[in-house]
Amino acid sequence: MAKKTCSFCGRDESQVKILISGLNGFICEQCAQQAYQICQQAGVLDAPGKKSKGEVEEVDLKKVPKPKEIKAYLDQYVIGQDDAKRHLSVAVYNHYKRLAQPKDDDGVEIEKSNIIMVGQTGTGKTLLARTIAKLLHVPFTIVDATVFTEAGYVGEDVESILSRLLQAADYNVAAAERGIVFVDEIDKIARKSDNPSITRDVSGEGVQQAMLKLLEGTKVNVPPKGGRKHPDQEYTVVDTKNILFICGGAFDGIERKIAQRLNTHTVGYQSVQNVRKIDTGDLMKYILPQDLKSFGLIPELIGRLPVLTYLQPLDRTALRRILVEPKNSILRQYEKLFAMDGIQLTFKEEALDFIVDKALEYKLGARGLRSIVEAIMIDAMYEKPSSRAKKFEVTLDYAKQQVDKANLQKLQQSA
Ligand code: ADP
Repeated sequence: MAKKTCSFCGRDESQVKILISGLNGFICEQCAQQAYQICQQAGVLDAPGKKSKGEVEEVDLKKVPKPKEIKAYLDQYVIGQDDAKRHLSVAVYNHYKRLAQPKDDDGVEIEKSNIIMVGQTGTGKTLLARTIAKLLHVPFTIVDATVFTEAGYVGEDVESILSRLLQAADYNVAAAERGIVFVDEIDKIARKSDNPSITRDVSGEGVQQAMLKLLEGTKVNVPPKGGRKHPDQEYTVVDTKNILFICGGAFDGIERKIAQRLNTHTVGYQSVQNVRKIDTGDLMKYILPQDLKSFGLIPELIGRLPVLTYLQPLDRTALRRILVEPKNSILRQYEKLFAMDGIQLTFKEEALDFIVDKALEYKLGARGLRSIVEAIMIDAMYEKPSSRAKKFEVTLDYAKQQVDKANLQKLQQSA
């Protein structure tokens, strides 16, 4: 009987590890590998385990974390902000429910509950969104509303949100169509006339209208790979009906609008009693959709963001906790850096209080904590790896001395 040989390279059975038979010939392991590489380079293969375009896994509600579990997960990374955490957890869970709802149903259709989070910059809006994204198994992307412009300006169109989401979904359209988008700085597209910040507003109502369409659910032609529109580019059609939008913004000055509203409502005997209960230190918790309207968002857009929640400003206690408590807190990160050189890093309590004081003094907020710790640690990070030290403790004096050396004014500008 004739010897079996590889139909590609001609080697016989004795020269190869395996010969796989086909209809009219054989292929050896080496040629199979080469064939695989050629296909890979040509980009015609799906990544292992990846669903091909248009395929998505059914949502199994039993596997989806419950709102309490989602919140417990967020608690590990984000300090405080309970109201926002609860709203987000429920909204995300309901998003999964919506995806899991049977089609043949009783005519009851669960509607989308897009979210809007209002809170000063640096209070954890993006952190919340990022953290929740780690837990989820749907495509997720963060976009910044300041880049959207009305036609005529240089910038991106609102549709570009979807090309980012497509990217996050590895160009699996069906997966992208059930993803989550975090739109940051939504306040920057408020109408000019009502907007106290005139600096960055190039957009206004046109962009809001375009956003509205996306939120409502529409089929959008997305240019490939995020490119600008061009007549002969092929579009991907993405339906936004099932995409959950989480919007966030600082809405600088909205407290004034809230205060105004509360004041005008406090005329008359009955409301005088309510006045006492108002916590003027934290007006944000009284926010209502109408305050967003006074700020310059169009009512239709507000209507499509039915879940409204707020983030509290970070006080001393919160900043102190942020420094130490989160799973990947700044301190833990520096401890890890030093541990990799075999050095045990510790901070005296007074040094930590000092860091928080500085962040408050320079109005650097949570973002500034990192810059301050970096300024304190830079010399030690430079010197200690070459020393024989096994321990290093940051005392109050050391922290003060290092901060004096660093130019904090500079930190203030960069935060
Ligand atoms: P925002 O989006 O509200 O402007 P970020 O979420 O980007 O603020 O926060 C900036 C940084 O400050 C985060 O990366 C995080 O390190 C820290 N931070 C802010 N708020 C919190 C919080 N509530 N808990 C833990 N860290 C926080």
